[in-house]
Amino acid sequence: MPATESSLEPQRLPGDRDLQLRPRRLDEFIGHDDLRANLDVFMKSAIQRGAAMDHTLFFGPPGLGKTTLAQILAREISVNIRMTSGPVLAKAGDLAAILTNLEHRDVLFVDEIHRLHPIVEEILYPAMEDFELDLVIGAGPSARSVRIELQPFTLVGATTRRGLLTTPLRDRFGIHMKLDFYTPGQLYEIVKRGAEVMGIEISKDGALEIGRRARGTPRIANRLLSRVMDFALVEGDGRINGEFAATALTRLGVDGSGLDPSDLQYLNIIARKYDGGPVGIDTIASAMSEARDAIEDVIEPFLLQRGFIQRTPRGRVLARDAWKHLGIESPSGTAQPQDLFGDSQ
Ligand code: ADP
Repeated sequence: MPATESSLEPQRLPGDRDLQLRPRRLDEFIGHDDLRANLDVFMKSAIQRGAAMDHTLFFGPPGLGKTTLAQILAREISVNIRMTSGPVLAKAGDLAAILTNLEHRDVLFVDEIHRLHPIVEEILYPAMEDFELDLVIGAGPSARSVRIELQPFTLVGATTRRGLLTTPLRDRFGIHMKLDFYTPGQLYEIVKRGAEVMGIEISKDGALEIGRRARGTPRIANRLLSRVMDFALVEGDGRINGEFAATALTRLGVDGSGLDPSDLQYLNIIARKYDGGPVGIDTIASAMSEARDAIEDVIEPFLLQRGFIQRTPRGRVLARDAWKHLGIESPSGTAQPQDLFGDSQ
């Protein structure tokens, strides 16, 4: 059932109520208390100095609030935000046109910044460092280079893969902030807030049930809330309680721990085809007919965080909890090596 699969997809989908549900102020942003406290200091300092805030990089899996924070940041320091993304900026001229239109202290948000074209990235270096743009005008013998001064601005970059940023680009961000998966308690708060905004009546149990199954991701929590609300309106009395939420989520194919069909397929491949691993990421990708990037960006971070898999120099290995979750006996003597690589961020 495609609707089921897309319910747990952390990327933005048409039909998501991102605009309506996005927190607008820092104090509406739930969780990540340390990050919020630090961001608050950096914003206040920039306001006091009347200067542009330092370039800021938000990194972490999709749907955890990177775009939301960029918008909050601009609103809190009362400047305009211009939004674009790495793959959209195909030519140096595209970026130059945006940069020259920025006003004093404005925010330029670049999503998926690890996917910037190298030629575009080159012109970003002097822009970030000295607020200058070096452009070559014309071609052949009449070509000349001009230097354009820019208004001081803040580049806010978002990426799911900080490790893929080139060192010169990474080093030009003064502030690096990591977004982690949310706890069920924080997701409960997010569901409660979402229900309030959408005018849905939901019990504590109902919100807890959705929060628990939201794969640690606010975007998924809000999406599941919308789907459960559909069931409540059509088949119930419009209200959501724990039992109703649990039944609706099960009908949507959402597993009790929030694992989606792709997660389960990934775990089953390692368990059943490769006896728990180690197995290389490319092998898993071709067995799933999925892009390696999608597996590394979307599927693995949550499974690693839940302790279902481990990454070793020889490949991915299923951890004890995954066997338990799948209800399969682990082959005796399966090694449980340490996570030697840790997080790829
Ligand atoms: P990302 O840019 O990391 O993919 P977004 O910033 O677009 O994620 O967040 C997706 C949605 O999740 C937002 O529209 C918002 O409704 C919700 N959201 C994200 N983080 C929070 C949070 N901390 N508190 C409340 N809602 C959040």
